[in-house]
Amino acid sequence: MCESCLMPFAKDTGKRESDKYCSLCFKDGALCYKGNDVKEFQKVCYESMRKSGMNIFKAKFFTFMIRFAPRWKK
Ligand SMILES: [Zn+2]
Repeated sequence: MCESCLMPFAKDTGKRESDKYCSLCFKDGALCYKGNDVKEFQKVCYESMRKSGMNIFKAKFFTFMIRFAPRWKK
């Protein structure tokens, strides 16, 4: 799964460019969110999950899980 947002690659509907990141996190040869503020990244993810029609409880759960992704481990 994605080391940035923990999305399983099986669920990734886009064209994946990286072995480590999903098609949403990594596009055109670079990470889409370049900062290292996990809270800010969670906000971006939450909004895009809601926009894609995911229900609020699922979106909240996945957003919560992001902090455990390898990319954000200190
Ligand atoms: Zn991702």
